[in-house]
Amino acid sequence: MSLVRLDRLRSPGALAPRECGACTVCCTVMAVTELRKPSRRACEHVGAAGCAIHPERPAGCREFHCLWLRGAVAGGDAARPDALGVMFDYFVTRATGEEHLLAFEVWPGALDTPEARALLEAFARDREVRLSYRDGRWSALSPDP
Ligand code: SF4
Ligand code: SF4
Repeated sequence: MSLVRLDRLRSPGALAPRECGACTVCCTVMAVTELRKPSRRACEHVGAAGCAIHPERPAGCREFHCLWLRGAVAGGDAARPDALGVMFDYFVTRATGEEHLLAFEVWPGALDTPEARALLEAFARDREVRLSYRDGRWSALSPDP
């Protein structure tokens, strides 16, 4: 079975029956423009029970679906960002059509596990994957020429 489903990259929503459950990784990793929340900083509204303003959360939160939730990352809950330690995102810059596939490390070392490496290599077979490490470093994996 393939580790990634590239046809799900552009999916606008979650792949049923996937749900975020107890995961709140994107509430720290992602920037939220409406809240002026920078990336890599926990949202002021996130807690142990999840989002405290869930019914009124901004559109930026409502519309965000990581690649696990979209079904582009194979596997069950073990591949969910709070279990794997890596959150994948994909988007296209509207003005240029440029594609971006990003892998955010949630805790140190998570990008180096065999499970994460296998996913990174599968995504990187035909596109660049940019890696955001927990300590602030960035690097990239490029497809073999
Ligand atoms: S990182 Fe993905 S699975 Fe986790 S809360 Fe965000 S969208 Fe849901
Ligand atoms: S408002 Fe809620 S959903 Fe949005 S980042 Fe904050 S805790 Fe997460």
